[in-house]
Amino acid sequence: MIEQIKGLHHVTSMAADAQQNNDFFTKQLGLRRVKKTVNFDAPDVYHLYYGDETGSAGTIMTYFPFPHIAKGRRGAGEASETVFAVPRGTLGYWKERFEAQGVSGLEEQERFGGKRLRFFGPDGDGFALVEVDGDNRKPFDGGPVPESVGVHGFHGVTMRLRDGGATSELLKYMGYEEVDRQGDLTRLAMPGGNGADFIDLEVLPGAAPARQGAGSVHHVAFAVKDRKDQLEVRKALIDTGYNVTPVIDRDYFWAIYFRTPGGVLFEVATNEPGFDRDEDTAHLGEALKIPAQHEHLRPRIEQILTPIAG
Ligand code: ZN
Repeated sequence: MIEQIKGLHHVTSMAADAQQNNDFFTKQLGLRRVKKTVNFDAPDVYHLYYGDETGSAGTIMTYFPFPHIAKGRRGAGEASETVFAVPRGTLGYWKERFEAQGVSGLEEQERFGGKRLRFFGPDGDGFALVEVDGDNRKPFDGGPVPESVGVHGFHGVTMRLRDGGATSELLKYMGYEEVDRQGDLTRLAMPGGNGADFIDLEVLPGAAPARQGAGSVHHVAFAVKDRKDQLEVRKALIDTGYNVTPVIDRDYFWAIYFRTPGGVLFEVATNEPGFDRDEDTAHLGEALKIPAQHEHLRPRIEQILTPIAG
């Protein structure tokens, strides 16, 4: 069994509008934009990262805003919901805040005995806030949301699948343990993880397949400490029969990717070197960062990308 994975690293989704996406995460959810860069595989598209003050693993929500992309369709074979942890007793604050801001899809729910507030992102992205006790991850205090009620980071994700068996087996191999069941849901948790430790599998055998588009999660990334641990995880996955990409340098972390049996794309990303490798912590996310291999395209990229205010 793999022992190097420590919870989620980041979740990457697609959006239709960069400015709207930026405003939702920084002004409404109160996260910090920790990096403004481009899609390394398609550098005429932004890659925006939001998280805590430094972009700690387990707090980083990232987006590719593709202008004019069609809306995705929720269904089976995707991460259907990304869940953030907030302090106990703060869901009332969030419900009022979201109502005042016109956030859609608000619904108070209970899951595995915990209170949660479901909401949708600008493109219908599935989100929830869940109250947790004793989460020592410090919410970002430089935005409009007070630290005392702010987002600690991810709680986890929900994956909607037609068949959960093979994905559940994979997650257990990756170090997760099954901790609860309720209706169509099975909860897995990462012991000794970074706080972003929960994966809920929602198994709906008759569900139509999801169609990726704006508001869809593109992939879910898991955290490992460093490149050595990542190579060990890569070998273990390959030995088990998974088709894993070579290690790819993403400037702020190293990444490997593989497709899972339920259809969701997984990544394993390193906590090193981090988002402050090319910017001071005080100025994270301010300048447009272009990776060295695309730096020669900067004039063209700056012409194509609409500047983001704020
Ligand atoms: Zn990624």
